[in-house]
Amino acid sequence: MTKRIIVLIREDLRIHDHPALYRASQEGMVIPLYILDEETSHSPSGEAKKWWLHQNLEALQTSLQSINGRLWVDKGKVADLLPQWVQKTHAQGVYWNRVYDPRAYEEDLALARSLSSKGIDIQTFEGTLLLPPWKIKKDDDTPYKVYSAFYKSLRKEEIPKPLPSVKKMEVPDLDAEGLSLDDLSLKPSIPWYQIMESIWDPGEEAAVKRYHAFIKKSIKDYSEGRDFPAEGHHSTLSPYLALGVLSVRSLYHSLLEMEEVQVEPFIKQLIWRDFSYSVLLHFPESTTRPVNEKFKEFQWQKERDHLERWKKGETGYPIVDAGMRELWATGFMHNRVRMIVASFLTKHLLIPWQEGAQWFWDTLIDADLANNSMGWQWVAGSGFDSAPYFRIFNPTLQSEKFDKEGTYIRMWVPELKDVPNKHIHKPSQASVDILKTAGVILGEHYPYPIVDHKAARKRALERYDEIK
Ligand SMILES: Cc1cc2nc3c(=O)[nH]c(=O)nc-3n(C[C@H](O)[C@H](O)[C@H](O)COP(=O)(O)OP(=O)(O)OC[C@H]3O[C@@H](n4cnc5c(N)ncnc54)[C@H](O)[C@@H]3O)c2cc1C
Repeated sequence: MTKRIIVLIREDLRIHDHPALYRASQEGMVIPLYILDEETSHSPSGEAKKWWLHQNLEALQTSLQSINGRLWVDKGKVADLLPQWVQKTHAQGVYWNRVYDPRAYEEDLALARSLSSKGIDIQTFEGTLLLPPWKIKKDDDTPYKVYSAFYKSLRKEEIPKPLPSVKKMEVPDLDAEGLSLDDLSLKPSIPWYQIMESIWDPGEEAAVKRYHAFIKKSIKDYSEGRDFPAEGHHSTLSPYLALGVLSVRSLYHSLLEMEEVQVEPFIKQLIWRDFSYSVLLHFPESTTRPVNEKFKEFQWQKERDHLERWKKGETGYPIVDAGMRELWATGFMHNRVRMIVASFLTKHLLIPWQEGAQWFWDTLIDADLANNSMGWQWVAGSGFDSAPYFRIFNPTLQSEKFDKEGTYIRMWVPELKDVPNKHIHKPSQASVDILKTAGVILGEHYPYPIVDHKAARKRALERYDEIK
């Protein structure tokens, strides 16, 4: 009898370079199974990422159908449901690409043990990262805490070549039907997602198209241009990487084959992702607690009103407000702006980084536990290899440097669109007449700054001094 193999699909919504699916399709009849387990942290909590997941599951379903396959869907605890699926499908094997959020990872280990003990063939693969997160370690076998050393070490390694797309698969005739995608209730019933829909095309084909467009238009300017949000020299591939719609190994090898352009700066960013996962695996508490012990004593300020105004993009600092509104409208925010808004929240407003990380988690379509925790701890100064805590971004200077003409601000804070370049970064310092000509009355059309930069900087430094 041909072997029946369940392939548990998680953050690998693709058919190209999908090690578990590839192996299963070569060895037997395949049952691709997606279980929405809302208790693991790789399940989205925010409406935007839920929408994105729905779109990409739908695209995966279509891809699988095109190779004679299909996708079975269920909802509940993987630990309970997977053994039931093994039983009702008479599967002899369960294969998966590993996921590394601490809870799912532990559950996978327990499941593997219990199913193996019942004679089920369990095989697990690397389908998320360039290399498994335990692979790159220092000579003394401890994990790296400094990125540059991690990067150098990883760069010396041979990264496995991507596998070809699965071209055809055999699926068994099953009585077990499972649920429909709509039963997962991921897609909002009120269609508030039109802007996102106009920006983000789901599925592998769209992801590959976006990658090629980036290579054609921007890779040559990436190193210099990636910090300028209005110039668009960043790849915007993170939403695809977050759900595994794109394989990072495919990107890596495709980049290495390019001879005429400087690809290393981009490869370096991809390797940050592997570094974040190494930190997540070895220090799972880093998602909620500062890795720098001193920060456990830090006296945060928990002003709800400030947090709400930050979330809504009503701080009176245009670059911060532009970023927060881009996030709300598109499910994405440019990296430089993520750093600015995160610095503003943790340093100007002294609000705990965990609050910001939670908001990003709820609103980003590229929400990724490892990258998000690393990004927030980096900015707050409490993580490994972080920005020093005394480096406090001046949002106005950042804005003048990285959005000189105010193009990004005008896109997301349209009430300031007619404010001259000289004042768009800090309208509160423009005269009433200049603002009036631009159609702006502060406090009416656009808020006054919620904190004064100099005073906020002084307060943050004093607070940081207490834990030095
Ligand atoms: C406070 C904060 C929170 C963040 N939260 C997330 C998150 O939830 N999910 C997420 O994917 N990234 C997060 N990042 C990292 C980074 O901002 C995004 O990966 C990047 O903006 C995505 O845009 P892009 O695809 O155009 O990036 P590009 O500049 O084109 O980079 C290519 C890819 O490299 C990876 N990458 C780039 N920068 C980083 C980085 N600093 N850390 C880890 N990987 C990186 C991403 O996978 C990205 O898609 C966060 C950064 C900060 C400062």
